[in-house]
Amino acid sequence: MKVLHEISEVRDARKQCKSTLGLVPTMGALHEGHLTLIRKSVEKCSQTIVSIFVNPTQFGPNEDYEKYPRTVEEDLKKCEAAGADYVFLPTNQVIYGTEKPLVTLNVDKEMTSILCGKSRPIHFNGVAQIVSILFNIAQPDVAFFGEKDYQQLTIIRKMVADLHFPLEIVGVPTVREESGLARSSRNRYLSEAELAVAPNIYKVMNIIKEKANSLHAKNETVPVETLENEAKKMISELVPGSKIDYFEIRSTNDLKRSENLAADSRIFTAVYVGTTRLIDNLYIGK
Ligand code: AMP
Repeated sequence: MKVLHEISEVRDARKQCKSTLGLVPTMGALHEGHLTLIRKSVEKCSQTIVSIFVNPTQFGPNEDYEKYPRTVEEDLKKCEAAGADYVFLPTNQVIYGTEKPLVTLNVDKEMTSILCGKSRPIHFNGVAQIVSILFNIAQPDVAFFGEKDYQQLTIIRKMVADLHFPLEIVGVPTVREESGLARSSRNRYLSEAELAVAPNIYKVMNIIKEKANSLHAKNETVPVETLENEAKKMISELVPGSKIDYFEIRSTNDLKRSENLAADSRIFTAVYVGTTRLIDNLYIGK
């Protein structure tokens, strides 16, 4: 496995790759979720490049950019074991240079004012910016993203269609701890007591899914707000010290809300456990 620091080195690697190149963009602090994406790429593509870059433009002023976990040495070992051919490890200077960019991407308000966008208003513009820069640098044939960040995946798919990026996006199902807690680089912020209760978020999501499905089997109309309120109450009880940012049921396809449960409904949630913000989502269908 080669570690690349410069854009010219990535371009050379791209030129040398005569068949399909897979890209796995990450911010490092790699865990089993990231490694699953890398393995998927190794399986599907003839060569795989993993990028590790904590992108400053997707963090708000009061977010955890400075303290975001950075574990490069361990990450490199994990990438190699997962079968990556290259790791791209750029500095801020390599990606953004020293001058303020004249052209940036703006994701439509319809998407950035809901779910995570509500409390992180600049986040998805920063994500669109770095992902499109990485696409332009590596020119992959396929890029892999986790369903764990479902709103991000939805926005990236639409951006690729809107801007005609010549590549395929593959979404990979969320990888979880045995407890059900979605794997996340931020889980390492959780205290032991918080780690013990955080899996209850996924338990509540499943209770709501079962309830929704059984009501539907009886042909009853299911107003999503009733289910959402029930879920919020359960999370407050089962996850002491938590603060719910949102718990919403929306369309899997376009993230729009409807009054009643729809054929492609999905639960989306973000919950602060102590000071750590955890996100998760679950398909419930009808
Ligand atoms: P991050 O390093 O958090 O930016 O994540 C890099 C990629 O890994 C993104 O596409 C995430 O959606 C994906 N990812 C993070 N956690 C998981 C997980 N638990 N399961 C599947 N994919 C994940």
